[in-house]
Amino acid sequence: MQVPYINLALQHKLIKGEILSSIGNVLENGQFILGEELAKFEKAFAVLHGTKYAIGVANGTDALFLSLKAIGIKPSDEVITAPNSFLASASSIVIAGGVPVFADVKEDFNLDPEKVEKAITPQTKAIIVVHLTGRPAPMDELMAIAKKHNLHIIEDAAQAVGASYKNKPVGGFGTTACFSLHPLKNLSAGGDGGVITTNDESIYKYLLVARNHGLKNRDECAFWSYNSRLDNLQAALLNVKMKYLNNWTERRRHIANLYYEQFKNLPMIAPHDKPYEKAVYHTFIIQTEKRNALKEYLAGKGVDTKIHYPLPIHYQEAAKGLGYKKGDFPVTEKQAETILSIPVYPELTDEQVNYVIEEVGNFYN
Ligand SMILES: *Cc1c(COP(=O)(O)O)cnc(C)c1O
Repeated sequence: MQVPYINLALQHKLIKGEILSSIGNVLENGQFILGEELAKFEKAFAVLHGTKYAIGVANGTDALFLSLKAIGIKPSDEVITAPNSFLASASSIVIAGGVPVFADVKEDFNLDPEKVEKAITPQTKAIIVVHLTGRPAPMDELMAIAKKHNLHIIEDAAQAVGASYKNKPVGGFGTTACFSLHPLKNLSAGGDGGVITTNDESIYKYLLVARNHGLKNRDECAFWSYNSRLDNLQAALLNVKMKYLNNWTERRRHIANLYYEQFKNLPMIAPHDKPYEKAVYHTFIIQTEKRNALKEYLAGKGVDTKIHYPLPIHYQEAAKGLGYKKGDFPVTEKQAETILSIPVYPELTDEQVNYVIEEVGNFYN
């Protein structure tokens, strides 16, 4: 049996007719930029995350960058984030003119609030809280720290569309939250896309102008800015997918739970929701000392796995100037050597899921 890590074609096969009809309408009405489909998508996305506003942008990285601009980041402002994330959590800080400061994470891959508090300096402006793997970060603790030190929180929810913490959806905790609609994310466009959510009206108004050249109306530019919009064609596709998202999320959670029940007695750490979390399992990442051997064994059995991410951000060549070294973030560094992402997507069949479980078991026996 073959179990690919992801199969995007399969997702679209089932809803291709609906998608073609939806994007066909846009082709006919010729409304490609900032049209009705986008407005409809933004409204539905805001409802899903319990926020007042959602703003479509070109990708998740722009969502982070524009959010940092929206909170008024200035040169030498520090922003704390996690070194085990996708690199855009940090690169967005640099390209917005700030300085990324890392804090280590805990066993569940999310920021360790104690380490965050230790990383705060008089220059700290914000915390980019990543809901990595689709698991909500410990928001009670992080919000309390942000409040105490008068810092903004920006949620990097790129992997966490539809996740919630203590019954409150991610997206409404921070000054803004940033989502990615990249084809590999849980809610995916047919290409790049992103969304910012916020409850702050003045931030919302700023972002509407900031994503559109700084234009406050058709002809008048209020400030120099970027062109970072979500295409109406993408929104037309996404509006179809929004109808299925909840079922897809439940299927991911079901598969993750089946894995957990079978893996919990093996010599590994398998991810599992705490009672007050609803994780959406963008990835299902186990931690095992035998990572490389397991990866190779599974590949031999037709089960494709990945590593998210093999190189922590502070190890990247781009990060040299930040002055970090090996040993600075022991949990992240250890995890980089023990993590393995097992296939978890709604289109996996029960047979494939059982096969993965069986082969992981066979490896340990
Ligand atoms: C994917 C991702 C991003 C960047 O999103 P893009 O749409 O690819 O620009 C940022 N942060 C995290 C945690 C991600 O997984």
